[in-house]
Amino acid sequence: MNDKLFKIGQKLISTGSLSTTEYEYLIDNRNEEFAEFLKNEAVKKRKAVYGNSVFIRGLIEISNICKNDCYYCGIRKSNKACKRYRLSTEEILKCADMGYKMGFRTFVLQGGEDGFFTDEILVPLIREIKLKYPDCAVTLSLGEDYRFLLISGPNTGGKTVLLKTVGLLSLMTKCGLLVPADEDSNIMIYDKVCCDIGDDQSIQANLSTFSSHMKNITDIINMVTPNSLVLFDEIEKAYQISFAKGEKIDAVLVQ
Ligand code: SF4
Repeated sequence: MNDKLFKIGQKLISTGSLSTTEYEYLIDNRNEEFAEFLKNEAVKKRKAVYGNSVFIRGLIEISNICKNDCYYCGIRKSNKACKRYRLSTEEILKCADMGYKMGFRTFVLQGGEDGFFTDEILVPLIREIKLKYPDCAVTLSLGEDYRFLLISGPNTGGKTVLLKTVGLLSLMTKCGLLVPADEDSNIMIYDKVCCDIGDDQSIQANLSTFSSHMKNITDIINMVTPNSLVLFDEIEKAYQISFAKGEKIDAVLVQ
């Protein structure tokens, strides 16, 4: 066996992680002997943790709609041959009921990144499953659920235009207007769309750039709901402070 390959393999087994260069080396130099070595190590690890017991989980595929386009995945959005479906709450509960009768005591609700399944839909659904089957565990495998997105890039790269476009298209959607977007795009209908973009210095109102942004942000904080879209442009620049301090303000605002 290639000694270096073996050493990197041992490191992966003992630490669970490698550098990008080491992963590259493993991929570029892999061979059958090394695959067999890793397979045996994986079996050892599995036996150490689970012994010979078999754990089964009831997988409920609640939707195959996904806004992402990972090339290896059969349900990626560009796969036009894929017949799309989305289970209703009643259908999901029926699956859980059927699974429980078959002996499953843990359910995985799995799907692509389908924006339809918001917290408002999932929370009552999971609560109902847990109430009906208190001895069952529920796991979610429904993609990323993030409430915050940071856009970075070079100056004049179009970040502000992007923010304004997102805000405008969100408002157009809310008004029922057609928007110029990919046909598979998902867009949320927000309660409110708030923004702090641009220089609102006002000599008349005795507001410097800093205080005008602070006032705007305070107004936004006072009016936002959990389902609002809030767009902030270049907070640290607006405050004319160092990036390190701007970063802290960003973090506080997001919290
Ligand atoms: S389901 Fe997951 S892997 Fe498949 S396209 Fe969507 S995000 Fe990518």
